Amino acid sequence: MSGGAHTAVATVAGHEVCTDHWIGGERVPSPERFDVITPIDGSVIAEVAAGGEREADLAVRAAHEAAAGWAGLGAAGRAALLHRLADLIDANVERLAAVECADMAMLLESLRLRVIHRAAANFRNYADLAVAYEERDWHSKGTWNRVQRMPAGPAAVITPWNAPFMLSTWKVAPALAAGCPVVLKPAEWSPLSCSLLAELTRAAGFPPGVFNVLQGVGEQVGAALVGHPLLRRISFTGSPETARHIGVAAARNLVPFTGELGGKGPLIVFDDADLDAAAAKAAGQYDDAGQVCLAGTRLLVQESIREPFLERFHAAVDRHVLGDPREPETTVSPLIHPDHLERVDGFVQRAIAAGDTLVRGGRRLEGLLYEPTLFEPRSNDAEIVQREVFGPVLTFQTFADEEEAVALANSTQYGLSGIVYTGSMGRADRVGRAVRAGIVWVNTFLVRDLTAPFGGVGISGIGREGGNYALDFYSDLKTLQVLDGSVR
Ligand code: ADP
Repeated sequence: MSGGAHTAVATVAGHEVCTDHWIGGERVPSPERFDVITPIDGSVIAEVAAGGEREADLAVRAAHEAAAGWAGLGAAGRAALLHRLADLIDANVERLAAVECADMAMLLESLRLRVIHRAAANFRNYADLAVAYEERDWHSKGTWNRVQRMPAGPAAVITPWNAPFMLSTWKVAPALAAGCPVVLKPAEWSPLSCSLLAELTRAAGFPPGVFNVLQGVGEQVGAALVGHPLLRRISFTGSPETARHIGVAAARNLVPFTGELGGKGPLIVFDDADLDAAAAKAAGQYDDAGQVCLAGTRLLVQESIREPFLERFHAAVDRHVLGDPREPETTVSPLIHPDHLERVDGFVQRAIAAGDTLVRGGRRLEGLLYEPTLFEPRSNDAEIVQREVFGPVLTFQTFADEEEAVALANSTQYGLSGIVYTGSMGRADRVGRAVRAGIVWVNTFLVRDLTAPFGGVGISGIGREGGNYALDFYSDLKTLQVLDGSVR
C-alpha cells in the first residue's frame, strides 16, 4: 500500500476507470492507495483508493440520506432507471468486458457474449419483478388486511474477486429494485469494473447516494462498513471465515445478512448417462481456471463406467487451451493473483505429500497459469476432497450405486450446488432431492432462470438470492389492519 500521488483515473485496456470511491454521486479519494495487478502479465494496472472508517461512514450516510427519496420513487419509478442502466450496460459491453478481463482474467469472449449481458438482464429482471411484487389484501375477522412491502434501508453489498461485475449485480439489482440504496464494496483483487457500474448509474440518472462504491481492503474498510449502525441489510459473497466476522457485526446491530460462501460441488455420473456430454462438462469445470464457487469439483463416477469416462474426460481436457484470456481460442486463463496461485499449489503439494494419486496436471506454468489437475484421493477424508481449492483442481472417485453416490455427494460441510448426469427421470428426481445443495443441475450446468432461488446450505451459505427471494430480503414486510366500517 502506498500513500503516494493521487491518481484518480487509471487507463485499463485502453479505457479510463475511476480509481477513487464513488460516494454520494461524487469521486472521493483516500490518502492511502493499493495496487491492482492484472493476472494476464502480473503488471500493476491501477492504484485504487483504500478506504477506512471515514469513507465507510461517508458512504453509509450518503445511502441513508438517499433512502427516503429512492423509496418514494416507487417500484415503477425505480424500474425506469434500472431499465436505463441495463441498456447502458449492454451499450458498454466492450468497455466493461475489456476492463473485467484485465482485472481478473475472465475469458474476454465469454464476457462480451454472455456475462455482461447477463448482468444487464439482472437489472431488467428485477425492475420488472419489483413492479409485479404485489401487496396482498384480504378480509378477516371484521378487518381489512394488507401486507405492505417497505424498503429496508441502506444495504451493504460485499463481493468476491471472481466475476465481480456480474456477481455484484445479483445483489445490487434486487436491493435497488426493492428501494434500498447500496454501498458496494468490491474485492481488492478485482475492484475496477464496479467503478464503471457507478459511472453508468450516474449516466442513467440515478440520484446521488443511491449507489455508492467503497474501495479498499476487506479487513479495514469492509469491517468498518458492516459495523455501521445506519445499515439495514448486509449481503455478502466470499469465504465462510469472513462470513463469520460479518455475522458478528450484523448481530451487534441486529441487521439481517445473507452469505453465499463457496462450495465443493459433486458432479455425479451414472452409467445410464450420455458419457460424452458428462465428460465434456466435467472437463468444463476447469473453465475460468476453476475459480467458480458453483463448480462441480468432485467427480463421482459409477464404477462400471470408470474407464470409458476417464478416456473421454482426458480427451476433453487435452483440448483445453491455456493462455491469454483475450485470445478467442483460450479456454483456461491465469489465476487471479500470485497469492492465490500459492494457495492452489499448496493444496496440490499437500495432497501429493499425503499420498493422494496425482492423475494429471499439478504444475505451475508460465505467469499465473496452472495446469488442469486431477487427483484420485486416498480417502474421502482427504483435504483435497473436503476443502474448496478454487482453482483448476478436481478429484475423481467412484461409487457402486445411487446410495453411495448420494452419501459421497453429501459428505462435505459445503452444500452450494450439485450436477447429476443420468438418463433416468426417476433417478434425476431421487438424486436431485437427496443431494444437499441450494441448486442441483441434471444434464446441464450453470444456467439458472433469474426468478429461481440461489444460495447454499451448510457452510455454503445463509439465505437466498434470486427472484422474489432477494426482494423479500431487501424488504420489511408490514401488516396493515383496518377495522371494518371505521374509515370511508
Ligand atoms: P475470497 O476468498 O473470495 O477472497 P473473502 O471472504 O476473503 O473471500 O473476501 C470476500 C470479500 O469480503 C472481499 O470483498 C473482501 O475484501 C471482503 N472482506 C474480507 N474481510 C472482511 C471483513 N472482515 N469484513 C468485511 N468484508 C471483508
